Amino acid sequence: MNAVAAPPPAAVEIVALSKRYAAGTPAAVDRIDLRIASGSYCCLLGPSGCGKSTTLRMIAGHESVTSGDILLDNRNITNLPAAARGTAMMFQSFALFPHLSATDNVAFSLKMKGVGKAERQKRARDLLDRVAMGHLAERKPGELSGGQQQRVALARALITEPRVLLLDEPLSALDPFLRIQMRAELRRWQKELGLTFVHVTHSQEEAMALADTMVVMNHGVIEQVGSPHQIYNHPANEFVARFMGGHNVFDTSTGPIAVRNDHMRIAPASDGAASGGLAATVTDVEYQGTYVLLGLALQATPPGRQNVSVLMGEAAFLARPYAQGQAVSLAWAEADARALATTPQASPPHPIPVPLPATFHTEALSS
Ligand code: ADP
Ligand code: MG
Repeated sequence: MNAVAAPPPAAVEIVALSKRYAAGTPAAVDRIDLRIASGSYCCLLGPSGCGKSTTLRMIAGHESVTSGDILLDNRNITNLPAAARGTAMMFQSFALFPHLSATDNVAFSLKMKGVGKAERQKRARDLLDRVAMGHLAERKPGELSGGQQQRVALARALITEPRVLLLDEPLSALDPFLRIQMRAELRRWQKELGLTFVHVTHSQEEAMALADTMVVMNHGVIEQVGSPHQIYNHPANEFVARFMGGHNVFDTSTGPIAVRNDHMRIAPASDGAASGGLAATVTDVEYQGTYVLLGLALQATPPGRQNVSVLMGEAAFLARPYAQGQAVSLAWAEADARALATTPQASPPHPIPVPLPATFHTEALSS
């Protein structure tokens, strides 16, 4: 690390922001409000087409706004050109120029601005030092590992001294092993630089691993904002519970509830203690190492209509294994059931209400 001064991070505020690409089409982003704390790591998460990239591009100034405002530390930047906003963008798989050295890649935007060669090379080298890449500054991207390329891409984004770094699916083109390494590195750099990061991803796992604040989007609107812990433990509605995964959603007479699949209690149907639980049949047994994931079909609903999963610790499974086709009984502790608001588009076409387990013989059932 050397003495390059870090730019101060900025808070991002989005007020009633909308984007409609063409008249008569649904809004890609529909009057969203969001405040991203200065110096935080924020992930915009949601399925493909939900408006994540559109939101990010409007913050960057690469896309015009249909209505609403974008503020950086209370300064309205909605109509500023991209280069004047104090934001910078890091793209999918880094998008480095293959024929340029790391230094020239990093210095590129200064060259475009007419900064003299000696000055821009010095600033590029300083930044490469800062991301521990100074010793490889003359290499071309093809001569660098994925991790080293990511650091060059980061230095290239930082050369404009942004206060907010915007990242659009930066890890999605990498193989799974490298993706996990690189996300740890992104997280480390964000903390070390103290910048505000806004990172778009469709991966729940990636968002949970990275974010201080997760913003779950769906059809151009925000469904929930919170820490990964808050969202995973208290999904606001059916869409969030289903999208985050790891939850079973039960349509009951009093509305939908979610139960984490590692909070489900399971016992063989033949076990006397299992009376009063939901009758189900094991359809799949998937060994995952630390855990075993059981897929189940509820007997009260038409086959395939409502599938349920149970995540068991390996030791608990080995102590009492379950096999495909086995009849079992499911229950959960009342405290583990989360009432959900209904999201129409997240429901199956014809939700089948299931009877709640009449009694909770939870002590007798293994979890
Ligand atoms: P995400 O990044 O969440 O996958 P996008 O923001 O790219 O979603 O897209 C949101 C919606 O806007 C989608 O329906 C998409 O087809 C549409 N869209 C995105 N970019 C354009 C564009 N340049 N012109 C017209 N429609 C677009
Ligand atoms: Mg996108």
